[in-house]
Amino acid sequence: MNAKPKLAVWKFASCDGCQLTLLDCEDELLALAGEVEIAYFVEATSGSVDGPYDLSLVEGSITTEDDSERIQRVRSASKALVTIGACATAGGIQALRNFGDVEEFARVVYASPEYVSTLATSTPIAAHVRVDFELRGCPIDKRQLLEVLTAFLHGRRPEISSTSVCTECKRRGNVCVMVAHGTPCLGPVTHAGCGALCPTYNRGCYGCFGPMESPNTISLTRQLKVLGMTDRGVERVFRTFNADAPEFREASTRG
Ligand code: SF4
Ligand code: SF4
Repeated sequence: MNAKPKLAVWKFASCDGCQLTLLDCEDELLALAGEVEIAYFVEATSGSVDGPYDLSLVEGSITTEDDSERIQRVRSASKALVTIGACATAGGIQALRNFGDVEEFARVVYASPEYVSTLATSTPIAAHVRVDFELRGCPIDKRQLLEVLTAFLHGRRPEISSTSVCTECKRRGNVCVMVAHGTPCLGPVTHAGCGALCPTYNRGCYGCFGPMESPNTISLTRQLKVLGMTDRGVERVFRTFNADAPEFREASTRG
């Protein structure tokens, strides 16, 4: 009998929310556990099996010297490596440090900043090692995660659409909050995946899934200003979970 593929789940600088999405696949988890050997997943089990691993899921960004060394070891031990979530794919909310002075932040926040050992930046995994697929979101979406796992286990590319949240909105038959109510919404430039969760509840999209493919942030910024948003407001709206994704970074600094 062939051995089951080995799955490993790794954590770097993150809140664990994306790993919890995997644990949240209650109905599918038993079937998944039947198809793979969960070889390393500290959030779920204290047992671990040595690599190499067929598939590694990596959550979190690189924020320390130790992180930058550990991710090299994870890459060497993994046949395929998939990053999950805004921290791993764009540096996360902790990448706000990339726009400021990390030493000043440490001085203001911590009573004894000399004990804080950190890099000046928070960077995505792909800035350090080769990544086979990036799954976006803060947190990631369960359906998309299951599609990625299934695809890698069967040796095919995941079928994940890189269109905008607007397409999901239309599919759900939502009334557009920006057109109908003048509510600022990042949906036109944000990667699909959440199922247009916020607009469905009459809120504008916050951009948790990061930039879609070729986003037109210039046009959206113009519209946000028509709705009364100031330059500072535009900066803030693009600087959240995916602040340092290149397209959102550019939009936040354009003014
Ligand atoms: S992407 Fe969001 S939910 Fe996932 S680990 Fe980072 S902060 Fe948590
Ligand atoms: S509510 Fe937002 S995401 Fe939905 S269609 Fe309008 S702009 Fe697009």
